[in-house]
Amino acid sequence: MTNLLWFRGHDLRVFDNKALNQAIKLQEPLICLYIHDDKEFTTNSSGQKIHNSWAIGQASKWWLHQALADLKLTLSQLGNDLVIRQGNCQDILTEFVEIYKVNQIFFHNRFEPFYRLQTETIKRHLLNKGVKVNIENSSLLYPIETIKNQEGNIYSTFTSFFKHTFNNYTPAYCLPTPKLIPKSNYLINSTPLEDLKLEPRINWTNGFRESFTPTQEGGMKLLKTFLETKVNNYSVARNFPSQDGISKLSPYLHFGQVSVNYIFYQVLALKEEFACDKDFSQNAQIYINELGWREFAYYNMWHKPYTTNEALRSEFKNFPWEVNESFLKAWQKGQTGYPIVDAGMRELWHTGFMHNRVRMIVASFLCKDLFINWLDGAKWFWDTLVDADLASNTLGWQWTAGCGVDAQPYFRIFNPVLQSQKFDPSGIYIRKWLPELNSVSPSYIHQPWLETLIKINYPKPILDHNLARLKALQTWKGLRKS
Ligand SMILES: Cc1cc2nc3c(=O)[nH]c(=O)nc-3n(C[C@H](O)[C@H](O)[C@H](O)COP(=O)(O)OP(=O)(O)OC[C@H]3O[C@@H](n4cnc5c(N)ncnc54)[C@H](O)[C@@H]3O)c2cc1C
Repeated sequence: MTNLLWFRGHDLRVFDNKALNQAIKLQEPLICLYIHDDKEFTTNSSGQKIHNSWAIGQASKWWLHQALADLKLTLSQLGNDLVIRQGNCQDILTEFVEIYKVNQIFFHNRFEPFYRLQTETIKRHLLNKGVKVNIENSSLLYPIETIKNQEGNIYSTFTSFFKHTFNNYTPAYCLPTPKLIPKSNYLINSTPLEDLKLEPRINWTNGFRESFTPTQEGGMKLLKTFLETKVNNYSVARNFPSQDGISKLSPYLHFGQVSVNYIFYQVLALKEEFACDKDFSQNAQIYINELGWREFAYYNMWHKPYTTNEALRSEFKNFPWEVNESFLKAWQKGQTGYPIVDAGMRELWHTGFMHNRVRMIVASFLCKDLFINWLDGAKWFWDTLVDADLASNTLGWQWTAGCGVDAQPYFRIFNPVLQSQKFDPSGIYIRKWLPELNSVSPSYIHQPWLETLIKINYPKPILDHNLARLKALQTWKGLRKS
């Protein structure tokens, strides 16, 4: 008997991998397979071809390459191997089932609208072929598909969702790394990883490499450092982009290299160990709440799948977004003339990452100052973030634009200068990413256009925030439900 474990790209680890653990319980030869498809499509129940409108972005492709290399090495150390193939998932799975007489197939659920349809289609297809299909969840803490409030409706605020979920559900405990993964006797061809061409041709990724070690071990080390030195001050430090106060675990979570259940239980254990230290346990709880935001993002994407492409709130259907290529380019390149916005966009381009506080500032600037559709911003993030995640990205953008679930009230419009003064008071973050402002004196670092005595190679603001704010207030306030 041969069984097959299908890695789907968000589960790239061997520790606490439920599908893998179920598979090896059978003690039968196992083929470990990853399929890469550049033109991803699946079919719906009427046989219509559906393409993935959120195919993996460029920065994420780079990460995926490193994560697959790492997984391949780990699997070989455990007596198995990662077989890589390129093409349509259903076709390749069918080929494997037929050639290698696969009896059972194991894989993880994915929650994005496209992968949800793919899961259903492939499951139906394989069952029809007589294969036993085992689907597990290794990427979320909670069964987001079934959580409802007392009236049987979907929770519409984070606080009510997480209060209910945290108090009523116990996330699964972690499963160990198997000591050995039995390999099948078949000689199976594997496409060389390089042939997937995941790494960009342009020289773009040095900064990614300097910022991250994109392996399972790299993620575990980051977690250890976070638990030992950062969690105790997380609630304050996480707001300041120049401080090293966050975990930076988001890409590892997205690709599944570090288990969210493991992080959860590690932080919870510390919280309980230091329960008498109120400050410490509050910090730990705030971190757990952030993991809760990730769950909430998936919860919303699952129950309102259309929101990945359109605003959740109907009054935004005909919102007068403006098309302005030169504004969009200035934002993407970090050339808006507002230092905190530009520093964030340059950090993103250089490292594939951006601090959460700055994500909110740059997103607000795009939507509420430049009047550019949140989807244009979401797409740029999608292509340039190494942690690009459809659920969290959609939630983050719709929250900032005020058109999503539990979103910012319309009158809260980030002022890039005040935000900068508050969260980067000495301009350390700004100077790191905008070296051309090094000669600007500290009192002008947040508004360099006011310093008239020196000449700098940095643009003047592309618009006046105060005027843009008035326009945004008027437009957002005038919205009516359609
Ligand atoms: C406009 C915008 C776009 C975003 N796009 C993404 C994205 O594509 N991928 C992504 O993972 N996050 C996204 N976020 C959420 C958040 O910015 C990142 O999760 C966080 O910055 C990652 O850094 P960290 O791992 O150090 O977080 P930490 O502060 O250490 O938090 C720990 C973990 O909690 C989760 N988390 C924290 N904040 C949020 C949040 N607001 N929403 C959902 N989960 C959260 C993440 O999984 C994170 O790794 C976005 C936020 C905004 C405002």
